[in-house]
Amino acid sequence: MIHKPLEPNATIGILGGGQLGRMLSVAASRLGLKTHIFDPSTDPPAGHVAHSVTTAKFSDTEALKAFANQVHIVTYEFENIPTKTLDFLEAHCTIRPGREALRVSQDRLTEKLFLQSLGLNTANFVDITGPTTLQTALRSLGTPAILKTRQFGYDGKGQIRLSDPDDIPPDVNSLLDRPSILEQVVHFEREISVIAARGFDGSIASFDPGENIHQDGILRTTTVPARITVHQKTEAVLHTAKILNALNYVGVIGVEFFVTPNNLIINEFAPRVHNSGHWTQNGCAVDQFEQHIRAIANWPLSDGHRHNDVVMENIIGDTTDVVSRSATDTLSALHLYGKVEAKLGRKMGHINWISPKN
Ligand code: AMP
Repeated sequence: MIHKPLEPNATIGILGGGQLGRMLSVAASRLGLKTHIFDPSTDPPAGHVAHSVTTAKFSDTEALKAFANQVHIVTYEFENIPTKTLDFLEAHCTIRPGREALRVSQDRLTEKLFLQSLGLNTANFVDITGPTTLQTALRSLGTPAILKTRQFGYDGKGQIRLSDPDDIPPDVNSLLDRPSILEQVVHFEREISVIAARGFDGSIASFDPGENIHQDGILRTTTVPARITVHQKTEAVLHTAKILNALNYVGVIGVEFFVTPNNLIINEFAPRVHNSGHWTQNGCAVDQFEQHIRAIANWPLSDGHRHNDVVMENIIGDTTDVVSRSATDTLSALHLYGKVEAKLGRKMGHINWISPKN
């Protein structure tokens, strides 16, 4: 399908109004484009900077129809949009990245089977259908292993680590009433992610892979460049391109890898801009947000060139002192998301600590 490039003042609809929608809106606005946020919550962070906001449930078809009629193209900032919402919207407007990328990434089982069908490595896993299966699976897969819900998990939510088939903690029951998989723990050297984009014409541009540190399942820092070999970097980018092409993808994707001495193992991918790509805001002339807007607007992509080394530090839960702390280094950039209530584990902003490229 050929689409004309979006013209100045065109409106991009964004499903979800969190910090990613906010930063996408800022990027769009810098390019002379408008955004319209659709989010069920009142006062979403993206609403502060977007041209317009619809506050309605994702099941509200009247509101969705009105939204579709006011925008030129629709994108999304999180992958757990109900599939019915997308089916409904797709009849009224173009959604980028397409429906297939969401379908595959919304379910860990579907995602792993898709990756394996492309010849890419995933952690060994077993599909879990009940408590007996869990014990048997733990024995066959080996411990430690991680029980993960197939859907709606993020930031380590919906996951429990298990180390003994004969001592399964009672809190697994809260997960087992939903479809789940059991994943072998990968003993990785490091975690990296590739943020890349594919345009309407099939062109692909990748940013340099970032090295990620997680705590309690939540991303804490991303460091660029990652401590990987040229071969590992090339492989990671090629694997990402394979995924992009297989999905006939348009937009930015984030692919997370475990790096082991012999292998790159894909943990998961997110069909959207990604927290581990926030470093690009101060490490590249065109960041991941602008790159996504360019891709879905059918504009030429940037080549992803990096001009600085960056450590991106997430500000989680507590914002005390971040303004003064970031001011200790003139080569730092503070990004706050406008969230009023600082809850435990809530991403409030990030700081990009910049240093000259080595
Ligand atoms: P996820 O929600 O699947 O991205 O998991 C969040 C984080 O938990 C990952 O970034 C890893 O640090 C850790 N993790 C998840 N799955 C595995 C695994 N199979 N082996 C080792 N660590 C894992």
